Amino acid sequence: MDQAGKGVSVQRIYNFSAGPAVLPVEVLEKARAEMLDWHGSGMSVMEMSHRGKEFVGIARKAEADLRELMAIPADYKVLFLQGGATAQFAMIPLNLLGDRKSADYVNTGEWAKKAIKEAKRYCRVNIAASAEDANFTYAPPQEKWQVNPDSAYVHYTANETIGGVEFHWVPDTGKVPLVCDMSSNILSKPVDVSKYGLIYAGAQKNIGPAGLTIVIVREDQLGKAAPTIPSVFDYKIQAESESMLNTPATYGIYIAGLVFEWLKAKGGLAGMEKLNIEKSKLVYDFLDGTEFYRCPVARQDRSRMNIPFTLRDSALDEEFLKQAKGRGLIQLKGHRSVGGMRASVYNAMPVSGVRALVEFMGEFAKKHG
Ligand SMILES: *Cc1c(COP(=O)(O)O)cnc(C)c1O
Repeated sequence: MDQAGKGVSVQRIYNFSAGPAVLPVEVLEKARAEMLDWHGSGMSVMEMSHRGKEFVGIARKAEADLRELMAIPADYKVLFLQGGATAQFAMIPLNLLGDRKSADYVNTGEWAKKAIKEAKRYCRVNIAASAEDANFTYAPPQEKWQVNPDSAYVHYTANETIGGVEFHWVPDTGKVPLVCDMSSNILSKPVDVSKYGLIYAGAQKNIGPAGLTIVIVREDQLGKAAPTIPSVFDYKIQAESESMLNTPATYGIYIAGLVFEWLKAKGGLAGMEKLNIEKSKLVYDFLDGTEFYRCPVARQDRSRMNIPFTLRDSALDEEFLKQAKGRGLIQLKGHRSVGGMRASVYNAMPVSGVRALVEFMGEFAKKHG
């Protein structure tokens, strides 16, 4: 499949990796064209001073486009940080606890567990709701949530990248600020940012290259950081220095900016949501129509981004992966903690890739069923 279009012919594979993940081919082409000489500057973006006017322009445009895409209200700061979502697991309690002694967490699987474990180093953690009783195959419904009104915030994982469980609704936590790990479904659909105290996401799933982390934080959450917090981890200090307290992930910000432009050209987040519904439905309808494959996740909470499934006979797993690879379909192995298979179908996965996957799965089932 030559997706690269004009010029050099390049073989692109269908990459179903959970992250770092597929990027839009148009974005990669643009980056390639601008690699040696960005807009007549005679330099690559990688070689630019982060405080020079070229790069400051790139960063401001990226932020403006993200604000437009997500309709981020004016009283929110957008930060371009480093350290991944994992650094946020610590930065959130360090910045938001203030004089409170506890925080609430919703336990939905592998990523929520990691966030909880880290938060426990800094405060008491109240589990407001958990899906552990059904091996993390569903999103706990609102009526099951028991939020402690004295907690500093309520944290949940909008999309469990490993388990394939996604919230298709925004929780209501009353006066307690809502904090969300949106690492693997940010930009996949419109969200009402005003319902959140803080949203964060590592870039390497649905935004751009690894090394960049985006934090969207309401201004009233700033200024509560623990006094010993490292300055680079202090949201307020980073906001005041426009995320340039130190050298930011410049090339990552540039590529993210190209992805934002691509999203705008594709009809924004409403356009993406439509496509993501279409793509994930192709896979789920197929899975539900066979006995050979099975998806463990409760129907109403199935992720549009990460689709876990098992083969009826796990002895065929290796053969499945080998044949898929032979067809140019890679990274379908499930996470080591859960086994089975997982197809990640982020924004940048073309519909043709999803069709090729479903076609292969049908043929494999016919041959081995
Ligand atoms: C990938 C992922 C993380 C961890 O991201 P890092 O950038 O590796 O720190 C955290 N939460 C979710 C939901 C993820 O998908």
